Parts: sequence; structure tokens; C-alpha cells
Amino acid sequence: MKKTENINTIINLCKTRGFIFAGSDIYDGLANTWDYGPLGVELKNKIKQLWWKEFVLENHNSVGIDGGILMNRNVWVASGHVSGFSDPLMDCRGCKSRLRADKLIEEKFPDVSADGWDNQRLLDYVNQHDIKCPVCGKRDWTDIRQFNLMFETYRGVTKDNSAQIFLRPETAQSEYINFINVQRAMRLKIPFGIGQIGKAFRNEITPGNFIFRTIEFEQMEHQLFCKDEDALREYQNYKQKTLAFYTQTLGISPENLRFRDHEKLVFYAKAACDAEYLFPFGWGEINGTHHRGIHDLSSHQKLSGKSMEYFDPITNQKFIPTVIESSHGVDRIFLALLCDAYHIDGDRTVLKLKPSLAPYTVCVLPLQKKDLSETAEKIFRNLQKHFSVSYDESGSIGKRYFRQDEIGTPFCVTIDYDTLKDGTVTVRERDTTEQTRIKIADLPKYITDKQ
Ligand code: ATP
Repeated sequence: MKKTENINTIINLCKTRGFIFAGSDIYDGLANTWDYGPLGVELKNKIKQLWWKEFVLENHNSVGIDGGILMNRNVWVASGHVSGFSDPLMDCRGCKSRLRADKLIEEKFPDVSADGWDNQRLLDYVNQHDIKCPVCGKRDWTDIRQFNLMFETYRGVTKDNSAQIFLRPETAQSEYINFINVQRAMRLKIPFGIGQIGKAFRNEITPGNFIFRTIEFEQMEHQLFCKDEDALREYQNYKQKTLAFYTQTLGISPENLRFRDHEKLVFYAKAACDAEYLFPFGWGEINGTHHRGIHDLSSHQKLSGKSMEYFDPITNQKFIPTVIESSHGVDRIFLALLCDAYHIDGDRTVLKLKPSLAPYTVCVLPLQKKDLSETAEKIFRNLQKHFSVSYDESGSIGKRYFRQDEIGTPFCVTIDYDTLKDGTVTVRERDTTEQTRIKIADLPKYITDKQ
């Protein structure tokens, strides 16, 4: 079986099979926006449900929240996003393309990490290494300017600074500002965690590589609040937890994953790394695990004047806990899953998703419409009580199997004339194409056991 090496193959599959459509398509689109279609929303929901189960429900001492997208402006002042959440941009004077200097360097020299470099260092590197504009081929760059990534809007009717608010660029801050609320209401003792899934917005102007870099995306973030002496051990735990989630739960091939430690740490952090996936366009970050010290809680304490201290009932001491953050991008994981699962097997395309992730677990297919659809529909309705199921009665059976292979449906249940006689059906498996005769009554158990 051959894996895909071209992102356009994945984009095309997504569009034609109903996973993802270009945003605002009939108006010629809006750069870096996409709409999830019927199959896409199923796969996305399954990723989120599995993460929630593993990082919140089954994670000892963790609880979830669903914070607002719009928050008091001061949240972003304290977090540092108002003053410092920016990208280094430079314009090509030749063709007027606007590009991110750090990404330009990293694309040309994949072993270099330019994250956190100041403007002068970026500009010197571009000039010393003669990096040309990838659009027009000239080297005639403007100076580098920092461009804030937050989308701003105004609350109420006046458009002055006091009314200015932002669409959140990350979900994490509502976990920090609700730390005391959650701890008290749930009577939690550290170490404990708060998890959240939700939309985030960034005014990214650089080309997006499909859903890898979008202006509206979803994050799954978990913050662990712990004692400082336990933090580095917890940091390692969360790295391992992330690896297990990607490889065992989601089934991503380990050889397409790596961790990359941050070269330069911010002053408050003791460790930070990205988990990266080998996309057809190169390695790209899908997760960040960060030791954040007491920075976030103490910044909010300072600006709000409200205590963020935890009272330890055993030692009778008050302190601000250290935070270990585990941040995952739903859309980037979605893309990694599709790239990993996409295979060509002879003349069929097979999306080898884990059965627990496939948009449809089963497809019900009557071999012939006229005489068999009544029985098939009964089976379809019964299976819907247990699984996500689709129904297909048009075209040759071979074509119908291929259609299901291409969208990753692991089981096809075929109803034929023998079904009317002996109450059995054929179950055809996606990966092996093997077919097994099963009694209708045994179908739910048979499929559940194979998942
Ligand atoms: P990058 O360096 O690629 O811009 P980042 O380091 O800014 O990413 P974080 O701020 O750590 O990303 O965000 C956490 C996670 O959110 C990332 O690992 C990624 O999966 C996801 N993410 C961040 N920005 C985007 C985006 N523009 N589109 C889609 N997902 C994103």
C-alpha cells in the first residue's frame, strides 16, 4: 500500500467526499477559512470525545469547563497577548507578498528553529543566507514589523479603547482565570487539572497549508495545577500521555511523530516542547506541552488584585501552584489523521482510520433495491442504535464498497437473497476485503468486538 505524498490529494478527497469545504465558497472563499462537512464533523467530534475521555473524564482529579470566547480586555493585558502576541512580518517589494520571517527561514532550512528570534536576528539571517521571495524569486525585503494576531472588536456602540475586546486567541486563559472558582466549587486538592475544548481565533496572514493554519480553529487544552517540586515529573507524564493519545488512541504511526524541545525558553518556563507530525509539506506542530511556572496565575493576581493562591490544608501554607499545559489543535490532528490513514491499494483508495474514529462505522447495502430494501432498512435502523451507520443502494456493489473504503467505513453489511431465506448477511471488512457470513441478530456484537 502506498501513502500519499501530496496535500492536494487530501484536499480533493475532503471536498468531494464531504469532509471539508472551502469557507464562503460561493463568494470565492475567505483566505484560511474552511467549513467542516457531514463526514468531517463526525470525525472531528470523535477526536474531541476521545480527548475529553482521556484528558478530563479518566484523568485523575481533572474537570472540564466551557469558557466564553469573549472576555474582559484585561485578561489579554495580563496574559501578555496585547503587548506581545505578534508575528514578525516582512513584505517583498517586488511582488508585495507579505510573509512571516521565521517561517520563511524554517521552510528554507528545516533544521533551524527561528521561533523567538528578534527582528534583527531574523533580518540578518535572511540577508546572510540570501533567502529570496518564494513567490517572485527576488530578494528585496522591507524591514520586519511585529503584527498582533488578535482579532479585535468592540462591545456596545462606541468604538473607543474602553470598548475594545478580543476574540480569544487561545482557550487556556479561561482555565487560569477560573482556577479559584473551580477549585472552591469542586473542593479540589492539587494536583488537579482543568480541561476545555473550544474555538480560538488568530489573524494569521501567511498561507495556511489547508486546515493546518487557519484564522478560526479549535483547541483542546488541559492545565495541570501542581506543586513546583512535582512539575517536571508531571511535564514528562503529559508528554507520555500525549504520545499515547496520538499513537494508541488515535492510531497515528509513531514514525510520523516526533517531539521537538524549544531551543529558547521564556524566562518563567523550565521546559517546553512541541509534538510534530510529518505532513506531506514537512514537519508541523500539532501539540505543545509547556511548563509555565507560576507565570499565568501570578500575572492575573497582579492585574486583577484577586488572590490566586491555593491553601494547602495539610501544611497550612498558601502558594500559587505551578502549571503544566498540554495544548492540542483539533484541526491539525484531523489533518494528521487523514494524511496517516490515506492509502492507495491497487485500484482502490482506502482511508485506514481506526474503526472508533471512522465517520461511519457501518454501511448497509442491499444487493438489489426492489426486493431487499425493506429488510435492509430494518437492519439499518437497528444498527443505528449501536453505531454511526450509512446506507447506500445505488450503483454496483463493487463501486459501493470502494466508496466506503475511500471514506474509511470499516464494515459493509450486504443484504442479498439468502438473507430473506436464512436471516444472514455478509460483513465485508475495509482493510482485508474479507467477507464473513453472520446472523443478523449477531451483527452488533460482531462489529463491537472487531472495533
Ligand atoms: P505555530 O508556531 O504553528 O503558529 P503556535 O506555537 O503559535 O503554532 P500554540 O500557541 O502553542 O501554537 O497553540 C497550541 C496548538 O493550537 C498548536 O499546537 C496547534 O495545534 C493549534 N494551533 C495554533 N495556531 C493554529 C492555527 N492558526 N490554525 C490551526 N491550529 C492552530
